[in-house]
Amino acid sequence: MLLYWIGFYITIATCMLLGFIMLFQRLLYQTRQYGIRHHLLKLDRLEIAVVTMSALSLLILRLAATPSLPNMGFWFAINLQLLVLIYSCLHLKTLMSYIVLTLVSFICFVTTGNLGILLFMEVFLMILAVIALPEFIQLSAKYTLLFHLAMTVLIGTIFWFTLQLLSITTVHVTITMIATFIVASVFAQLYNRFASSDSQPNETLAYAAYHDALTSVKNWSAFRDEFNRSFTANASTGLVIATLDIDHFKAINDQYGHLVGNQVLVVFANTMIEALRPYHFDNYFYRTGGEEFSIIFPRTDLATANMICDVCQAQIRQLKIPLQGNIISLTASIGLTEKQAHDRDATATFQRADHYLYLSKQHGRNRTTNTEFC
Ligand code: GH3
Ligand code: MG
Ligand code: MG
Repeated sequence: MLLYWIGFYITIATCMLLGFIMLFQRLLYQTRQYGIRHHLLKLDRLEIAVVTMSALSLLILRLAATPSLPNMGFWFAINLQLLVLIYSCLHLKTLMSYIVLTLVSFICFVTTGNLGILLFMEVFLMILAVIALPEFIQLSAKYTLLFHLAMTVLIGTIFWFTLQLLSITTVHVTITMIATFIVASVFAQLYNRFASSDSQPNETLAYAAYHDALTSVKNWSAFRDEFNRSFTANASTGLVIATLDIDHFKAINDQYGHLVGNQVLVVFANTMIEALRPYHFDNYFYRTGGEEFSIIFPRTDLATANMICDVCQAQIRQLKIPLQGNIISLTASIGLTEKQAHDRDATATFQRADHYLYLSKQHGRNRTTNTEFC
């Protein structure tokens, strides 16, 4: 009989969790695509839709758990809440998403009868989940799935064992719920692996997602993720950012055609990479728009970054690009700024750099601006 119930709950939990994950991944993908199209820097806004869906799922599951009647169905609803909560926390990237979901689940558990212990467990589990966030420990993608699975199983097992030790649940409930939890988690991770591997090799897909097809330098998505991460990490060590825009690029397109324009972009990007290499910033160069690029200078002060930008500009100025019997020359304008104490988020710093870039354009182009007064 016990085996029958275990099988029953495992099947239902796995189906429900997979349905949730499919919607979750679809929504996440759509909003990330939207962010790339609209060059949105902050992830918080992109995650609103997914966080809302996760929060709604938690609330619906809460309604399914009738506190006055703690039967199998009740514990099953709690189990699914845990699975949804942990899955969402492990896959969303911003602290704001994590805080919202923790609050919602807190409300769910507070209103679940007088099972006060659930609250303590939940806080404890959430601390574990946040420690587990691969974003925080910067885990390589190769181990992320395995790590997610290990964390999920660990959290679920601790949760149900504690309730058993405190005699809140019976042995039958504990065994059924742990089995359900583990099998559903394994299926969730298998599905994730299946969905991300599809038919293509993973590494090729990951490379394409973060690199610009024309110049091969890193793209806006990579910039957004890495700049947000640097912004959070570099609390005291200094962080500088440069935004670059090629001057009068449209004239090159108009005069020589779009294909020549493309080749000029490739030469420009390669020249920048070579100019940044001696300073070890060649891996922090990004194509963030059509003829717009950015450089992140982690753990660097403004004076050093300014000096490096001067070197880059000098090398761009010296370029003589022979294309279709013509010699094409280039200049670029730069806006440069460091992270300041009053910058609420990465967008504030980026917008100031963009504003300084605009000032460079206004004051004759072919220069770097790092202050209001130039
Ligand atoms: P400014 O000095 O004010 O920046 O002038 P600009 O001509 O560089 O700037 P504008 O924004 O007027 O034009 C940018 C041009 O860059 C227009 C667009 O056609 C071109 N562009 C954007 N992406 C690409 C690309 O991938 N290939 C080519 N060939 N051109 C591109
Ligand atoms: Mg431009
Ligand atoms: Mg331009």
